[in-house]
Amino acid sequence: MSEILRSRTFQPGLDLTPLRDRIHGDVVGPGDYAWDEVRQAWNLSVDQHPAAVALPESPEDVVAIVAFAKANDLRVAPQGTGHGAAALDRLDDTILLKTERMRKVTIDPDTRIARAEAGVIWIEVVEAAAEHGLAALAGSSPDVGVVGYTLGGGLSWLARKHGIGANQVTAIEVVTASGDFVRADWANEPDLFWALRGGGGAFGIVTAIEFNLFPLEEVYAGILWYPVDRAAEVLKVWRAWTDDLPDEMTSVGRILQFPPIPEIPEPVRGQSFVVVEAIFAGEPDEGERLLEPLRALGPVMDTVTTIPVEELSKLHMDPEGPAPGTGDGGMLDDVDGHLIDLFVEHVVGTPILSAELRHLGGAVARRSLQHGAVDVFEAPYIMYAVGIAPTPEARKVVDSAVGRLRHMLAPWEGEHTYMNFAETRRKPSSLFSSASYHRLRRIKAIVDPTDLIRSNHPITPAF
Ligand SMILES: Cc1cc2nc3c(=O)[nH]c(=O)nc-3n(C[C@H](O)[C@H](O)[C@H](O)COP(=O)(O)OP(=O)(O)OC[C@H]3O[C@@H](n4cnc5c(N)ncnc54)[C@H](O)[C@@H]3O)c2cc1C
Repeated sequence: MSEILRSRTFQPGLDLTPLRDRIHGDVVGPGDYAWDEVRQAWNLSVDQHPAAVALPESPEDVVAIVAFAKANDLRVAPQGTGHGAAALDRLDDTILLKTERMRKVTIDPDTRIARAEAGVIWIEVVEAAAEHGLAALAGSSPDVGVVGYTLGGGLSWLARKHGIGANQVTAIEVVTASGDFVRADWANEPDLFWALRGGGGAFGIVTAIEFNLFPLEEVYAGILWYPVDRAAEVLKVWRAWTDDLPDEMTSVGRILQFPPIPEIPEPVRGQSFVVVEAIFAGEPDEGERLLEPLRALGPVMDTVTTIPVEELSKLHMDPEGPAPGTGDGGMLDDVDGHLIDLFVEHVVGTPILSAELRHLGGAVARRSLQHGAVDVFEAPYIMYAVGIAPTPEARKVVDSAVGRLRHMLAPWEGEHTYMNFAETRRKPSSLFSSASYHRLRRIKAIVDPTDLIRSNHPITPAF
């Protein structure tokens, strides 16, 4: 551990020395020079104040951190990147365990299985898999953490074809609250394996995850851009178009309102659009034929073309690197003309930067006994809206716009929501089917009866 990180720790009553002496990674406390840097989440609008931050480099380090936390009556909150930090509760009695140094990725081209250590971000897997002509069920953002995303479910551009990411996991290595290092799969710790696949981060500290890849080198994908004053018209045509699509086609209807800031590229800076993002994992000719009704609307820009599958990581234009944002989302049981009118009315001209409607269905709606805690997404669409929040005041303004939008769409909101798109604290029972929720609570009582492990969407043990 470096002297810079070690110096000037002070926190009355908490001596971090025994932990520092035991692990290869670093331990940083309030008052250390690096404190403000290490306590920071990817989402810069979240201000985290844990009791200490631990940066393990191995499963052995994680075991030592768990033992130290227990000995000092502290809890442990695992964090990969902090994309999902907004929903985390106060951390003052908690060690924030950041996995960012555990970054090894291995691809087995024969079994088509990837192994990612806990701190790996999606672009690292996507690029390594592409070298073998394989694709992963990555989300829209290149730097979301593979583990946090997958434990929460995982909604990728290929989800309608291959299902929820968590349901393609083949094994998970985890340090449990009792301090044991276990490999959970179909044969070992099957209940824990089931809970981790969609139940979130409340069941253990994952140190590595393994999951299926799919042979796919290119997709026909891109964005159709239209002026924002055509938002209702375009979204209604998009919605009708989604009624009859093969599982290979995934799409998003979205309003984008770019602020006039230098971080936004020149051609779109300060402008607003309604767009359709389309990703077709089939023959380009077929994709072209399917897109005809949307092209007939006369987009002002059309970037849909054949691209290497790894370029999907940039398609949604998510920020690369830490950014201050606040947003929220929910499942929608239907998207009809009335909803679209309200959606447009409560997004256009507000501080919301992006409001999207993603089309679900296909493989994410197909049940299987092999699946984990999130079997399917029943709702056919999901909404997510977000704005830039560099200050607490800006955060309040965006939160209130997003809250108003969600309120207007409440009559259409599905019974269950999707953990990864919920950035406000929800009733845990609303994230799962009733059967899954009760099973998760019983498993939590067995694997973590004292609720040592703190996740952003907690599950309370049921005894
Ligand atoms: C710009 C952006 C784009 C996104 N796009 C998509 C998308 O396309 N599809 C989608 O499904 N989601 C998407 N998300 C949501 C994202 O999947 C969630 O925020 C997810 O929780 C992020 O995981 P993380 O590890 O990066 O974040 P973190 O905040 O580090 O982790 C979130 C939670 O996961 C758990 N966790 C993380 N690491 C571990 C571990 N090692 N062991 C145990 N628990 C752990 C913890 O409970 C933690 O609080 C997006 C989010 C953002 C901000």
